[in-house]
Amino acid sequence: MAKLILNRVAKDFGTGRAAVSNLSIDVREGGFLALLGPSGCGKTTVLRMIAGFETPTDGSLHLGERLLADASQSLPPERRNMAMVFQSYALWPHMSVADNVGYPLKVRGVSGEAYRRKVGEALATVRLEAYAERRPADLSGGQRQRVALARCLVTSPDVVLLDEPLANLDRHLKQEMEETFREFHQRSGATMVYVTHDQSEAMALATDVAVMSEGQLLQVAPPDEIYARPEGRVVGGLIGRGAIVSLRSPDGDVRQLDWAAVEPLFSGEGGSASRADVLVRQEDVVLGGEGIAATVESVLYEGERYAARLRLADGQILRAFSRSKLAVGDDVRAMIRGAWRL
Ligand code: ADP
Ligand code: MG
Repeated sequence: MAKLILNRVAKDFGTGRAAVSNLSIDVREGGFLALLGPSGCGKTTVLRMIAGFETPTDGSLHLGERLLADASQSLPPERRNMAMVFQSYALWPHMSVADNVGYPLKVRGVSGEAYRRKVGEALATVRLEAYAERRPADLSGGQRQRVALARCLVTSPDVVLLDEPLANLDRHLKQEMEETFREFHQRSGATMVYVTHDQSEAMALATDVAVMSEGQLLQVAPPDEIYARPEGRVVGGLIGRGAIVSLRSPDGDVRQLDWAAVEPLFSGEGGSASRADVLVRQEDVVLGGEGIAATVESVLYEGERYAARLRLADGQILRAFSRSKLAVGDDVRAMIRGAWRL
């Protein structure tokens, strides 16, 4: 195994706008990278270039020292020792779980003791040893997806590529599968690249999150860092829940702002005349006290709390959580405990 290196990779399908441009990312060996971004931003195209189903029109991809592809040459997918898990994970209905998992080995001519051992190990990794002789139809949706994972793991791939594997699942199954993926990563030690448009999924699973927009890489960082220090409006808007407000620019270049710094900029006193975008996270807004006057515009009851959209006097939006009941039209005061200058 080795580091996966994307160096200034571009893909232009000849449509007038590049699907991916100038994208550089290193995925360390054994790392779990989430490629996060809205639909159409180029995530699948990146994954397909890593797998070898598309060739880059510029830049290069390496696995360690080995060149996977550049604009003039490309190693075919079957020689890259990677496995790709798709959104729909077709299993053979007439074969047992063990036979489904072992299928890629059969294709490669592996048999006998080596075959049995590898299938056993792959099933153990996804905790399905006890289900080896069942048919897919006798399994739950989550178990079936674990079979698909075991099948991709059985050939000991260097890199596992997953394209929105949870996009069609209900919330409950999604949570179960997130745990499976985390465990799968830890137990297999494989380098993983995981495509998703769901930020909470990316944050929960990955060791590093790469945020893409319109074919470009905007930021790559561990989940806690990208949450604490998002770069720019797009990343700020995509990661976590909050609102971006435009304020009269705070003085100095301190990025982590506190209430004392932000409040005068709302109320019209304060520093320089230029504007700045400030991210105010929903958990940093507390209702009550001496905050800014706001009106509740919409409320979502989430069981443990209410999530509210607030409109300020100047028309801008803030988001807040509240333990006590809120109703549309309520006049409240919003205290900002912290803010991040984008
Ligand atoms: P995502 O997976 O983030 O939704 P894609 O990688 O599928 O995005 O697509 C990125 C862009 O590239 C889109 O504008 C899409 O229409 C375009 N695209 C993807 N595949 C092709 C193709 N084979 N031919 C032409 N355009 C393509
Ligand atoms: Mg896609």
